[in-house]
Amino acid sequence: MSIFERLAEPPTPLLIVLSGPSGVGKTTLTGRLVERGWPGHVMVTVTTRRPRPGEVDGVHYHFRTAEQFHAMIARGELLEHAEVHGNWYGVPAPMARERLEAGQDVILTIDPQGAKTIREKVNGAIFVFVAPESLETLTRRVDNRGHDSPEQRALRLLNAEREMAEAPSYDYIIVNREGRLDEAVQQLEAIFTAEHCRVNPRRPIF
Ligand code: 5GP
Repeated sequence: MSIFERLAEPPTPLLIVLSGPSGVGKTTLTGRLVERGWPGHVMVTVTTRRPRPGEVDGVHYHFRTAEQFHAMIARGELLEHAEVHGNWYGVPAPMARERLEAGQDVILTIDPQGAKTIREKVNGAIFVFVAPESLETLTRRVDNRGHDSPEQRALRLLNAEREMAEAPSYDYIIVNREGRLDEAVQQLEAIFTAEHCRVNPRRPIF
């Protein structure tokens, strides 16, 4: 294929795995990205966690029972699944594949265990770590969300310290600084731009 034939092809859809400790603001970041007109798709994942007030099935998560979740695993429908702070979460593979085949970039916002699995199972994904500026700011955010029992809070923070140690194995790192969300969103947009400008864009295969 000549270079001009290649340039006439539609852009390669990208799969970005956005991970980092829970409470760091991954969902806020992707929410703002969408608000700014990003044309890609943020995957709605499946969980056995109960909906929090205001959460809607199919919008925030696909809320399922443990039985339904384990049936999905048995049918091989989850690209990865992990137990996070006592609940199960997983990425529906057919939905991710459908979006990529339709030419859309896809973001998976998942925990670092899930990111590890995706690294083993998917060729050509791009890994972005979202970090807090300090463990103190993360603690404050988790407390302000006020969703957690004291046990869950302690578990989240213990996990966060361990998860931060994994940042060096990612392709990119974004620090989500207090009061500077737009800066973090611009960095994420810049990553998409740069990855689409690769001579050989990374094509996700799974
Ligand atoms: P929360 O219950 O607070 O919405 O999410 C808890 C953590 O689970 C967050 O770090 C979130 O990114 C992560 N998570 C959400 N969906 C998935 C998924 O499909 N797989 C994995 N491994 N983690 C997920």
